Amino acid sequence: AKRDPHHAVATFSADMHDHAVRQLTLEGDLPHAAQRGELEVLYQPIVCLDTGETSAMEALVRWRHPVLGMVSPLDFIPLAEELEIISGLGAFVLEDACRTFARVPGTCRVQVNVSPRQFRGSFVRTVQDVLARTGLAPARLGLEITESALVEDVEEAARTLGELRHMGINVQIDDFGTGHSSLAFLHRFPVDALKIDRAFIAKLGEDDVSADLVRTVLLLGQALRVPVIAEGIETAAQRDQLIALGCRRGQGYLFSRPLDRRAALAWAGALPG
Ligand code: C2E
Ligand code: CA
Ligand code: CA
Ligand code: CA
Repeated sequence: AKRDPHHAVATFSADMHDHAVRQLTLEGDLPHAAQRGELEVLYQPIVCLDTGETSAMEALVRWRHPVLGMVSPLDFIPLAEELEIISGLGAFVLEDACRTFARVPGTCRVQVNVSPRQFRGSFVRTVQDVLARTGLAPARLGLEITESALVEDVEEAARTLGELRHMGINVQIDDFGTGHSSLAFLHRFPVDALKIDRAFIAKLGEDDVSADLVRTVLLLGQALRVPVIAEGIETAAQRDQLIALGCRRGQGYLFSRPLDRRAALAWAGALPG
């Protein structure tokens, strides 16, 4: 086939143009997404790997853009951080999570992801307000925080973590293994659980290094006396290997995809299935 360099250049700049238009659209529309009812919070079960029993559900936000369709949180969470509207967006998710799970009987917890930028200022106050308003017991709320949230202002982060845990909230380190985790770090920031990033789970069975890494995190969890939760479990083989390694809890498509509110309430036993 003949190459046409001019055509290649034209296509390239057309793509660049499309990308720029999309970014501008997202930037302009994101600040209004919540009030326009375009944000939806889904809930993914976290189960006991042996029994399949659900101990918690993780809140995962979605943006249904009227023109661009479904936008991934991997695209709009960083944008919300840049635009400095992440606190409002985070509060929206927190409110939805607490309101939904206040209707669920029993002890099932709801886990909410917290962006590093949110984990500052009046965050503790926001959490207290939402719990008071929705009537959810603090012990039924979990917060998932990445290590990067904790390295920015160490003093303030340690104090905030302490206050949240003192309230009875379950604080977990998210995406464990992808950041700057160290023993000294975990000593400095006592937490209630570690979540292993799904990148490591995906490679289980493919290479020995991943299994060794998972084993190491499980040992760390044992030493710290905190549970370790595996995310992104897609196959029975991965589940069985995790059980063999001593992991007790996890989430992934094998058990359930993230569910809309109605399906989540049914799953958690608050509505007839
Ligand atoms: P994360 O906290 O690591 O959440 C797990 C991600 O893995 C979710 O992607 C979930 O849908 C996906 N997942 C779960 N099980 C499986 C599986 O078996 N296979 C595969 N391939 N994927 C699985 P999602 O919902 O697209 O969210 C992506 C990231 O966006 C989350 O990663 C989290 O960091 C962030 N995020 C989502 N919602 C919020 C939010 O409300 N606030 C903040 N700050 N971040 C959020
Ligand atoms: Ca998470
Ligand atoms: Ca994450
Ligand atoms: Ca992850």
